[in-house]
Amino acid sequence: MLYFDNAATTPLLEELSLLNEMFISKYHNPSSKYASGKEIKKEIDKVRNEIALFINTSPENIFFTSGATESNNTVIKGFYESYDSKKYHLITSAMEHPSILEPIKFLENKNRIEASYLEGYITKNSFYNAIKPHTQFCSIMCVNNETGILNPIQEIGKIVKEKDIYFHSDMTQAIGKIDVDVKELNLDAASFSGHKINGPKGIGFLYLKDSKQITPLLHGGGQEFNFRCGTENVLGILHLGLAIEKYRSDNKRIKEHYALCKRTFLNLLDATGIVYKLHFEENLDAILSISFKGIKNDLLMSVLDYKYNTMISIGSACNSNKEDKNLSHVLLGMGVGEEEIRQTVRISFGIKTELEDIYKFVNQLVEIFNIFKINDKIYEAIQWEESLIL
Ligand code: PMP
Repeated sequence: MLYFDNAATTPLLEELSLLNEMFISKYHNPSSKYASGKEIKKEIDKVRNEIALFINTSPENIFFTSGATESNNTVIKGFYESYDSKKYHLITSAMEHPSILEPIKFLENKNRIEASYLEGYITKNSFYNAIKPHTQFCSIMCVNNETGILNPIQEIGKIVKEKDIYFHSDMTQAIGKIDVDVKELNLDAASFSGHKINGPKGIGFLYLKDSKQITPLLHGGGQEFNFRCGTENVLGILHLGLAIEKYRSDNKRIKEHYALCKRTFLNLLDATGIVYKLHFEENLDAILSISFKGIKNDLLMSVLDYKYNTMISIGSACNSNKEDKNLSHVLLGMGVGEEEIRQTVRISFGIKTELEDIYKFVNQLVEIFNIFKINDKIYEAIQWEESLIL
């Protein structure tokens, strides 16, 4: 099995399973007032501390959530709830994750916000030009999950400070790939998900500079500084803590590893003569958006899956339930033509990607392209089911 879809999710670190044994004896509720409960609460706070160090803030600014979807929804809807005067304008981009776009759409239907969607490469100027006198909020992702493009968050941070606009960024794909310093970036809020950094699914966190500016989504028993109520996902939080520790201590090596994976893959591919186009060359090393001339993306993905058990993706996994005919809203937003989008796949590396996996993968591509070259009519006609006989 070869896995090149680390932007969708990452495998758990092996060390994480060690925690499970501990959890069998320490199952107590962290809100319980006896010693075992308090001990668990302390463990949770250690993780909170570890995260705060990693993104340069204080532990009180970190709120555990079920992941980035919840964090994004909390900020967008919570700001709306708190902002109880007249209609306001917000700025986002057309290339955001659905967990940003859908809550904004939901609020737009209530008629009290007006939204501007930036398209193409976001620049300091395109952002600046979108500002209106009543702009109060913006949400611009740091790294795009389909293209790997790094948005100019630092420059936007300077503008929003000057203009007094609330600044949220979806940092789900950024953490571990670039340094995230919420103070330096002037962020008011940022969202994160554990499973993108080899932690478990269903756990994430939200950074809030001032939680009073955001109305909570969940009210209840007072957990998470009374901001995100509900008994804590202790197992998820403790596992997340180990993952954060790994990324914090190995940060430099991990980034070098991504660069090596990208270099190796592209060098090998160049040597094969396969015709390809790497979109957005300035993207981060871990996520490649690439089109292979003459072969549809769903066919390539399926042949790799069924013949070799190799996993790549078309756009993002989160969109696969929604998007029609594989026309990614992100690539459309970036101005990529429909024909090219249908030939574009996403290849994303992770800390467990081995160079040997990349050699094998490129060999598989060579095999596939040799077969398809013999009969190019197949490009047009073949359905993936037929490709199973290859
Ligand atoms: N934002 C981005 C940029 C993502 O890539 C994802 C996951 N694909 C999410 C938000 C949502 O994360 P989760 O599904 O863990 O809530």
